[in-house]
Amino acid sequence: MSSDTHFTDFKSDKQPTWCPGCGDFGTMNGMMKALAETGNDPDNTFLVAGIGCSGKIGTYMHSYALHGVHGRALPVGTGVKLANPDLEVMVAGGDGDGYSIGVGHFIHAVRRNIDITYVVMDNRIYGLTKGQASPTSRQGFETATSPEGTVEPPVNPQALALAAGGTFIAQSFSSDSQRHAELVQQAIEHDGFGFVNVYSPCVTFNDVDTYDYFRDAIVDLEETDHDPGNYEAAKDRIMDPGTEHIGILYQNEDSVPFSEREGIDRNMADIPDGAPERADRLVREFY
Ligand code: SF4
Repeated sequence: MSSDTHFTDFKSDKQPTWCPGCGDFGTMNGMMKALAETGNDPDNTFLVAGIGCSGKIGTYMHSYALHGVHGRALPVGTGVKLANPDLEVMVAGGDGDGYSIGVGHFIHAVRRNIDITYVVMDNRIYGLTKGQASPTSRQGFETATSPEGTVEPPVNPQALALAAGGTFIAQSFSSDSQRHAELVQQAIEHDGFGFVNVYSPCVTFNDVDTYDYFRDAIVDLEETDHDPGNYEAAKDRIMDPGTEHIGILYQNEDSVPFSEREGIDRNMADIPDGAPERADRLVREFY
């Protein structure tokens, strides 16, 4: 780790192919700033990305990275952290990746309280596949796959995280770059699973959840009397429909990360003698 890393050190030489104005630019910049501010550098950082426009981030950032399978970024990130606890592990994806096909992994990563950071670029639509309703699309939203409007109410990611025992639950806005970076930084510094849902507008396929909409609607919890340590207050905020919050909704200061839980008494990287050979033999015999 280096204390003199600049956030641009996390930029790769690849030119992003995101649409001009996509919220994912701001989300990525904030993540890079937060990593640099917390004393990390590309050599100790591992980024696992899901599938979707957001998933391309692993190519645009300079660090160890894996662009995985749809919805499976969190179990991969969990494995990376268990294998090498010294790495700073960040998992990134979108609302389609994380709250639809990946929602089971989300809940279990939350309750496991593994010490990684999960950043979700929530644009409330499937962008890469050209504009279908996603799990966080609002009810009544008209898309190619819901021409008369979506029927289901949207998934509430913070409610899922709180119900699963989340210890750090925050939300940010990609366009508010300083605040977004601060919140990702706090998620990295948290002892346990740091979850940040980011309003990251899709300027091409979502003409409802726009920058203008969020700028008008957002309430920054830091400017209210909200106490993130108060579970009941967090629950009330999270279950408050129609209010777009940014800030830390809930943080358990007594969080015990997975690696320090009773019964977890050894580094998973300490592979028992002969285990790789036995695994290799098993696979070969099976096939
Ligand atoms: Fe961003 Fe939407 Fe373009 Fe995808 S389609 S790059 S989410 S603006």
